[in-house]
Amino acid sequence: MNVVVMGPPGAGKGTQAKLLAERHGLVHLSPGDLLREAVKEGTPLGLEAKAYMDRGSLVPDGLVIELMRARIRESGGARGLLFDGFPRTLAQADALDAMLSESGFALDMVVNVVLPEEEAIRRLTGRRVCRVCGANYHLEYRPPNAPGRCDLCGGELYQRSDDSEETARARFEVYRRQTEPLIAYYAARGLLRDVDGSGGVDEVAERLSRTLGLAG
Ligand code: ADP
Ligand code: AMP
Repeated sequence: MNVVVMGPPGAGKGTQAKLLAERHGLVHLSPGDLLREAVKEGTPLGLEAKAYMDRGSLVPDGLVIELMRARIRESGGARGLLFDGFPRTLAQADALDAMLSESGFALDMVVNVVLPEEEAIRRLTGRRVCRVCGANYHLEYRPPNAPGRCDLCGGELYQRSDDSEETARARFEVYRRQTEPLIAYYAARGLLRDVDGSGGVDEVAERLSRTLGLAG
Protein backbone atom coordinates (compact mmCIF):
# COMPACT_ATOMS: atom_id res chain seq x y z
CA MET A 1 0.00 0.00 0.00
CA ASN A 2 1.19 3.52 -0.81
CA VAL A 3 0.49 6.15 1.83
CA VAL A 4 1.09 9.86 2.33
CA VAL A 5 1.58 11.08 5.91
CA MET A 6 0.80 14.78 6.07
CA GLY A 7 0.33 17.35 8.83
CA PRO A 8 2.01 20.52 10.08
CA PRO A 9 5.72 20.67 10.90
CA GLY A 10 6.22 19.06 14.32
CA ALA A 11 3.08 16.90 14.10
CA GLY A 12 5.18 13.75 14.49
CA LYS A 13 5.23 12.66 10.83
CA GLY A 14 8.87 11.55 10.80
CA THR A 15 8.63 9.73 14.13
CA GLN A 16 5.52 7.83 13.08
CA ALA A 17 6.62 7.17 9.50
CA LYS A 18 9.85 5.59 10.74
CA LEU A 19 7.93 3.30 13.13
CA LEU A 20 5.34 2.32 10.52
CA ALA A 21 8.03 1.57 7.95
CA GLU A 22 9.98 -0.63 10.40
CA ARG A 23 6.92 -2.48 11.66
CA HIS A 24 5.18 -3.04 8.34
CA GLY A 25 8.01 -3.30 5.82
CA LEU A 26 7.22 -0.08 3.95
CA VAL A 27 9.84 2.17 2.32
CA HIS A 28 10.02 5.53 4.13
CA LEU A 29 10.55 8.44 1.72
CA SER A 30 11.19 11.83 3.35
CA PRO A 31 12.39 14.70 1.14
CA GLY A 32 13.38 16.61 4.31
CA ASP A 33 15.81 13.82 5.32
CA LEU A 34 17.10 13.47 1.75
CA LEU A 35 17.61 17.24 1.38
CA ARG A 36 19.47 17.50 4.72
CA GLU A 37 21.72 14.66 3.56
CA ALA A 38 22.38 16.54 0.29
CA VAL A 39 23.20 19.73 2.24
CA LYS A 40 25.60 17.80 4.50
CA GLU A 41 27.36 16.25 1.52
CA GLY A 42 27.50 19.58 -0.34
CA THR A 43 25.97 18.16 -3.55
CA PRO A 44 24.65 20.62 -6.19
CA LEU A 45 21.09 19.89 -4.97
CA GLY A 46 22.15 20.54 -1.37
CA LEU A 47 23.82 23.84 -2.29
CA GLU A 48 20.67 25.01 -4.04
CA ALA A 49 18.24 23.80 -1.36
CA LYS A 50 20.08 25.14 1.71
CA ALA A 51 18.97 28.77 1.56
CA TYR A 52 15.30 27.80 1.23
CA MET A 53 15.53 25.35 4.12
CA ASP A 54 17.38 27.79 6.39
CA ARG A 55 14.59 30.34 6.13
CA GLY A 56 11.80 27.77 6.42
CA SER A 57 10.56 28.11 2.82
CA LEU A 58 9.74 25.22 0.55
CA VAL A 59 12.44 24.07 -1.85
CA PRO A 60 11.24 24.64 -5.48
CA ASP A 61 8.84 21.99 -6.76
CA GLY A 62 11.04 20.95 -9.68
CA LEU A 63 13.97 19.98 -7.43
CA VAL A 64 11.86 18.05 -4.94
CA ILE A 65 9.86 16.26 -7.63
CA GLU A 66 13.02 15.04 -9.42
CA LEU A 67 14.48 13.89 -6.10
CA MET A 68 11.35 11.87 -5.34
CA ARG A 69 11.07 10.52 -8.89
CA ALA A 70 14.52 8.94 -8.55
CA ARG A 71 13.65 7.43 -5.15
CA ILE A 72 10.32 6.01 -6.33
CA ARG A 73 12.08 4.36 -9.29
CA GLU A 74 14.75 2.88 -7.00
CA SER A 75 12.17 1.39 -4.68
CA GLY A 76 10.26 -0.47 -7.41
CA GLY A 77 8.86 -3.76 -6.14
CA ALA A 78 8.70 -2.65 -2.50
CA ARG A 79 5.70 -3.72 -0.39
CA GLY A 80 4.62 -0.11 -0.21
CA LEU A 81 5.83 3.48 -0.10
CA LEU A 82 5.33 5.81 2.84
CA PHE A 83 5.68 9.48 1.91
CA ASP A 84 6.54 11.78 4.82
CA GLY A 85 6.50 15.51 4.03
CA PHE A 86 5.64 14.97 0.36
CA PRO A 87 3.61 16.30 -1.38
CA ARG A 88 3.57 19.82 0.11
CA THR A 89 2.02 21.67 -2.86
CA LEU A 90 -0.70 20.91 -5.38
CA ALA A 91 1.93 20.69 -8.14
CA GLN A 92 3.75 18.03 -6.10
CA ALA A 93 0.47 16.16 -5.53
CA ASP A 94 -0.15 16.03 -9.31
CA ALA A 95 3.42 14.93 -9.92
CA LEU A 96 3.09 12.18 -7.30
CA ASP A 97 0.07 10.69 -9.09
CA ALA A 98 1.92 10.76 -12.39
CA MET A 99 5.11 9.24 -10.93
CA LEU A 100 3.23 6.45 -9.16
CA SER A 101 1.26 5.54 -12.24
CA GLU A 102 4.48 5.53 -14.34
CA SER A 103 5.66 2.76 -12.01
CA GLY A 104 2.30 0.99 -12.09
CA PHE A 105 1.29 2.13 -8.57
CA ALA A 106 -1.45 4.30 -7.10
CA LEU A 107 -2.01 6.22 -3.88
CA ASP A 108 -4.15 4.26 -1.40
CA MET A 109 -4.54 6.65 1.53
CA VAL A 110 -3.51 10.05 2.92
CA VAL A 111 -3.34 10.34 6.71
CA ASN A 112 -3.48 13.84 8.09
CA VAL A 113 -1.86 14.04 11.54
CA VAL A 114 -3.70 16.80 13.40
CA LEU A 115 -1.96 18.81 16.14
CA PRO A 116 -2.60 22.36 17.46
CA GLU A 117 0.02 24.96 16.47
CA GLU A 118 1.31 25.68 19.99
CA GLU A 119 1.97 22.00 20.70
CA ALA A 120 3.67 21.60 17.30
CA ILE A 121 5.94 24.58 18.06
CA ARG A 122 6.84 23.04 21.46
CA ARG A 123 7.73 19.79 19.73
CA LEU A 124 9.84 21.57 17.08
CA THR A 125 11.80 23.83 19.42
CA GLY A 126 12.57 20.93 21.79
CA ARG A 127 13.56 18.50 18.99
CA ARG A 128 17.11 17.17 18.97
CA VAL A 129 18.52 14.88 16.27
CA CYS A 130 21.49 12.52 16.25
CA ARG A 131 24.22 13.76 13.92
CA VAL A 132 25.31 10.19 13.19
CA CYS A 133 22.18 8.01 12.85
CA GLY A 134 19.41 10.64 12.57
CA ALA A 135 17.41 9.33 15.58
CA ASN A 136 14.90 11.82 16.95
CA TYR A 137 14.65 13.06 20.56
CA HIS A 138 12.83 15.79 22.45
CA LEU A 139 14.31 17.62 25.44
CA GLU A 140 11.12 17.16 27.46
CA TYR A 141 9.01 14.45 25.79
CA ARG A 142 11.69 11.96 24.63
CA PRO A 143 14.90 12.88 26.44
CA PRO A 144 18.01 10.79 25.75
CA ASN A 145 19.45 8.75 28.66
CA ALA A 146 22.65 10.87 28.69
CA PRO A 147 22.23 14.58 27.87
CA GLY A 148 23.38 15.43 24.34
CA ARG A 149 24.13 11.78 23.37
CA CYS A 150 22.16 9.37 21.21
CA ASP A 151 20.87 6.29 23.08
CA LEU A 152 21.24 4.15 19.96
CA CYS A 153 24.74 4.99 18.69
CA GLY A 154 26.30 7.48 21.16
CA GLY A 155 26.39 10.18 18.46
CA GLU A 156 26.15 13.89 19.26
CA LEU A 157 22.64 15.39 19.36
CA TYR A 158 22.09 18.74 17.65
CA GLN A 159 19.27 21.20 17.10
CA ARG A 160 18.20 21.65 13.47
CA SER A 161 18.86 25.24 12.39
CA ASP A 162 15.24 25.53 11.20
CA ASP A 163 13.89 24.50 14.64
CA SER A 164 14.49 27.93 16.23
CA GLU A 165 11.17 29.39 17.36
CA GLU A 166 11.26 32.08 14.65
CA THR A 167 11.87 29.66 11.78
CA ALA A 168 9.48 27.07 13.21
CA ARG A 169 6.71 29.71 13.14
CA ALA A 170 7.66 30.70 9.59
CA ARG A 171 7.41 27.03 8.55
CA PHE A 172 3.98 26.83 10.14
CA GLU A 173 2.85 29.80 8.04
CA VAL A 174 4.24 28.18 4.90
CA TYR A 175 2.34 25.01 5.84
CA ARG A 176 -0.94 26.99 6.21
CA ARG A 177 -0.50 28.77 2.90
CA GLN A 178 0.95 26.10 0.63
CA THR A 179 0.26 22.67 2.12
CA GLU A 180 -3.04 22.88 3.99
CA PRO A 181 -5.05 23.20 0.72
CA LEU A 182 -4.05 19.59 0.01
CA ILE A 183 -6.37 18.45 2.81
CA ALA A 184 -9.47 19.51 0.85
CA TYR A 185 -7.92 18.18 -2.37
CA TYR A 186 -7.42 14.67 -0.95
CA ALA A 187 -10.71 14.73 0.97
CA ALA A 188 -12.54 15.42 -2.31
CA ARG A 189 -10.88 12.32 -3.77
CA GLY A 190 -12.01 10.22 -0.81
CA LEU A 191 -8.42 9.42 0.22
CA LEU A 192 -8.08 11.50 3.41
CA ARG A 193 -8.21 10.21 7.01
CA ASP A 194 -7.62 12.52 9.97
CA VAL A 195 -5.61 11.09 12.87
CA ASP A 196 -5.26 12.85 16.23
CA GLY A 197 -1.53 13.51 16.74
CA SER A 198 -1.77 14.39 20.43
CA GLY A 199 -0.67 12.04 23.20
CA GLY A 200 2.38 9.80 23.40
CA VAL A 201 4.26 8.28 20.47
CA ASP A 202 2.85 4.77 21.09
CA GLU A 203 -0.69 6.05 21.40
CA VAL A 204 -0.45 7.91 18.07
CA ALA A 205 1.23 4.89 16.42
CA GLU A 206 -1.67 2.70 17.52
CA ARG A 207 -4.22 5.14 16.04
CA LEU A 208 -2.29 5.33 12.78
CA SER A 209 -1.92 1.56 12.41
CA ARG A 210 -5.64 1.10 13.03
CA THR A 211 -6.52 3.78 10.48
CA LEU A 212 -4.28 2.13 7.90
CA GLY A 213 -5.68 -1.31 8.70
CA LEU A 214 -2.20 -2.46 9.71
CA ALA A 215 -2.95 -3.42 13.31
CA GLY A 216 -0.33 -5.43 15.19
P1 ADP B 1 7.61 16.15 11.91
O1 ADP B 1 8.33 15.10 11.11
O2 ADP B 1 6.12 16.11 11.72
O3 ADP B 1 8.15 17.54 11.74
P2 ADP B 1 8.85 14.79 14.22
O4 ADP B 1 8.40 13.38 14.05
O5 ADP B 1 10.26 15.10 13.91
O6 ADP B 1 7.83 15.80 13.46
O7 ADP B 1 8.53 15.21 15.74
C1 ADP B 1 8.85 16.51 16.23
C2 ADP B 1 9.38 16.41 17.66
O8 ADP B 1 8.34 15.95 18.53
C3 ADP B 1 10.54 15.43 17.84
O9 ADP B 1 11.40 15.97 18.81
C4 ADP B 1 9.88 14.16 18.36
O10 ADP B 1 10.76 13.42 19.19
C5 ADP B 1 8.71 14.71 19.17
N1 ADP B 1 7.52 13.88 19.10
C6 ADP B 1 7.05 13.17 18.05
N2 ADP B 1 5.89 12.55 18.35
C7 ADP B 1 5.61 12.88 19.65
C8 ADP B 1 4.54 12.56 20.56
N3 ADP B 1 3.52 11.79 20.19
N4 ADP B 1 4.59 13.10 21.80
C9 ADP B 1 5.61 13.91 22.16
N5 ADP B 1 6.64 14.24 21.36
C10 ADP B 1 6.65 13.74 20.13
P1 AMP C 1 11.02 18.44 7.12
O1 AMP C 1 12.19 17.56 7.40
O2 AMP C 1 9.86 17.69 6.52
O3 AMP C 1 10.62 19.26 8.34
O4 AMP C 1 11.47 19.48 5.99
C1 AMP C 1 12.52 20.39 6.23
C2 AMP C 1 12.62 21.38 5.08
O5 AMP C 1 12.94 20.69 3.86
C3 AMP C 1 11.34 22.17 4.77
O6 AMP C 1 11.17 23.31 5.61
C4 AMP C 1 11.60 22.56 3.29
O7 AMP C 1 12.53 23.62 3.20
C5 AMP C 1 12.27 21.29 2.75
N1 AMP C 1 11.27 20.34 2.25
C6 AMP C 1 10.94 19.14 2.78
N2 AMP C 1 9.97 18.54 2.07
C7 AMP C 1 9.66 19.39 1.05
C8 AMP C 1 8.72 19.38 -0.01
N3 AMP C 1 7.88 18.35 -0.20
N4 AMP C 1 8.69 20.45 -0.85
C9 AMP C 1 9.51 21.49 -0.69
N5 AMP C 1 10.41 21.59 0.30
C10 AMP C 1 10.49 20.55 1.17
